[in-house]
Amino acid sequence: MARYTGPACRLCRREGMKLFLKGTKCYTVKCPVEKRAFPPGQHGQLRVKLSDYGIQLREKQKVKRMYGVLERQFKRYFTLAQKVKGVTGQQLLEMLERRLDNVLYRTGFATSRDEGRMIVRHRGVQVNGRIVDIPSYSVKVGDVVQIAPSRKGQTARVKQNLERTKDRPAPAWIQVDVDQLKGLIVRAPQKDDIGLPIQEQLIVELYSK
Ligand code: ZN
Repeated sequence: MARYTGPACRLCRREGMKLFLKGTKCYTVKCPVEKRAFPPGQHGQLRVKLSDYGIQLREKQKVKRMYGVLERQFKRYFTLAQKVKGVTGQQLLEMLERRLDNVLYRTGFATSRDEGRMIVRHRGVQVNGRIVDIPSYSVKVGDVVQIAPSRKGQTARVKQNLERTKDRPAPAWIQVDVDQLKGLIVRAPQKDDIGLPIQEQLIVELYSK
């Protein structure tokens, strides 16, 4: 699947907030949002008043980039969110949070969703005792996500990652066992668990036009 592979923190500047896309850079002063809090590029420092559409578009791009999904897939999540019971915007966020690559990031087993995606693709993760190599796999309540125990090199790396991400505890919907490198999904993720300002209603407005 094609995806954005340029400098991750350039996107932080674009969206005006830390997106935590690449490893632990955003946790440090190295994330350029700290020093240059304006969008990248030639016109980054011009003050532009965004239209309603512009504001909605930026919010959508921000969330899309955070989770590392492309437009088509993002739109598919939205269509699905509209069909299920509940508030569409919140359902959309819940679906994104349920992605297996995100679960690896949230548990701290991976330093970023990108790394989570790589670990999943390399068949390094089991769900309920079986290898799942699909990063978009949607976890359910009761699922046990575990780093495949047979791979020694990977186990060492994941333990290192846990050390590097210890300042960012796992959300309450995942119960993490750091010895077994295991995470139990105890409830559905909610918007409040995300811990970053997201105005999902803007995304709903954008797609509802
Ligand atoms: Zn950053």
